[in-house]
Amino acid sequence: MSIAAFRADLGDVPVEDHPRIVQQRSRDHYWYSPVLKAKLDHVSAEIVVSPRTQDEVKRVLAAAYKHKVAVTPRGAGTGNYGQAMPLAGGAMLNLMNLDRVVRIEKDRVRAEAGTVLEKLDNETRAAVGGELRFHPSTYRMASLGGFIAGGSGGVGSIRWGGLRNLGSILSVKIITCEEGPRALELTGEDVLKVAHAYGTNGIIVEAEMPLAPAYDWVDIMVGFDDFITACRFAETVASQESLLLKELSPCAAPIAQEYFNRHKSYVRDGQSVVLIMAAPVAVEPVLIYLAHYGGEVLYRSDEASEEELRRLPPIYELAWNHTTLRALKVDPTITYLQTRYPTLKHVEKIVSLLGDELPMHIEMTRQDGEVTFAGLPLVRYTSEERLEEIVRIHEDNECLVFNPHRYTLEEGGMKRTDKAQLAFKKEADPTGLLNPGKMVAWDDPDYDFNAGRAWLFQGLEPYA
Ligand code: FAD
Repeated sequence: MSIAAFRADLGDVPVEDHPRIVQQRSRDHYWYSPVLKAKLDHVSAEIVVSPRTQDEVKRVLAAAYKHKVAVTPRGAGTGNYGQAMPLAGGAMLNLMNLDRVVRIEKDRVRAEAGTVLEKLDNETRAAVGGELRFHPSTYRMASLGGFIAGGSGGVGSIRWGGLRNLGSILSVKIITCEEGPRALELTGEDVLKVAHAYGTNGIIVEAEMPLAPAYDWVDIMVGFDDFITACRFAETVASQESLLLKELSPCAAPIAQEYFNRHKSYVRDGQSVVLIMAAPVAVEPVLIYLAHYGGEVLYRSDEASEEELRRLPPIYELAWNHTTLRALKVDPTITYLQTRYPTLKHVEKIVSLLGDELPMHIEMTRQDGEVTFAGLPLVRYTSEERLEEIVRIHEDNECLVFNPHRYTLEEGGMKRTDKAQLAFKKEADPTGLLNPGKMVAWDDPDYDFNAGRAWLFQGLEPYA
């Protein structure tokens, strides 16, 4: 690997090689996990390359292939499993300059990979009154390519499921890493090859996403004296097909009181909260259910003062992994897990077993036609051993854990690689230069494709 020869072949493609800046840009949000922090703190690329066009991406990948330089793609670097950490050094490929919205139609949008999701929505709302069906809570920073390659779902998943569901990504254009890099357009089932594959099998340069009708979503925070009642309310409301919701997240006390700095004055001691985004037509019926379950309205944006609207972040920035971020800002020892609770009884069981060691945070989502309790519980971290024990307690009680303290695709249980995935990697990246170290099946020829227990992204082949 010769970085100097690689650089010489890039022509006028912008590069940065100041070690401090390169190290800064070599980081994502891996530090969310104390386990990943210990493992990845020392990792850095040697150069950052920032192509401005798709032809420049091809030029970078041809040079990388010729000089055997590892390439780790990067959008906004908000991934929190260390997905964008350059384990083999080499080049960071910054894709944020590829930010053209290519085409907007009534029901879909096509844009380049570096387009920030909020910008994308602003353009589609103005053009056709549509918006992305769902987005991560890092909406104001995250890129389209980074979301497809590194994310799974988010705000809107209560209605629309996640990226793993066919129909959530319409097509993806990638560039391969070969002697003569090719552009491939993947559609239908083939998009699953690159969805949540961390850029290990092609650099995404464009994608086409379906749109949903845009609404002036109303942010609501409601309170309950008891967390399980809050979850019952959330499950009932989530199950009503008639209610147009974009976000529904029960958070147990004392999450709001301790960590929601700008919202905590609305919350009484001991209250658990539910964070809601509802279409204006859904507000009244949601409040009827709220009254039935004995909850109270703590805040609603459609009745807020101008000062409140200026001061408070949008409610989705309390939800998903923003709950963890807000906790980490107050208490740096906090970490989290990603779980799925088959029923409310399972939530109840885990809460009773782990209590305040695991302040419970649920995201209500719709998965394969069912309302599900997706968990992002906070963990009051003491040691890696205890964290593993907490994982085991979940598994012993039939709850799934997608472990966010692992940086490979397979180990976290997020992405099932199978023979079809591996074959595609051989085609798109025959010498294994793209994001090395992230796909166990590539590095270990004896990898057992059926090793995992549960996968969020199931893979392309049926279970053996
Ligand atoms: P990056 O972090 O830069 O990259 C993510 C992965 O994709 C990396 O493996 C990278 O190598 C690869 N990659 C990036 N661009 C490309 C490309 N063009 N081609 C190929 N590979 C590429 N995620 C969710 O799914 N839902 C959430 O609600 C959510 N909430 C979050 C909240 C917080 C506070 C934080 C810190 C993270 C959250 N995340 C969430 C994770 C992350 O923010 C999202 O997945 C986001 O979409 C990643 O986009 P990015 O541009 O930052 O990607």
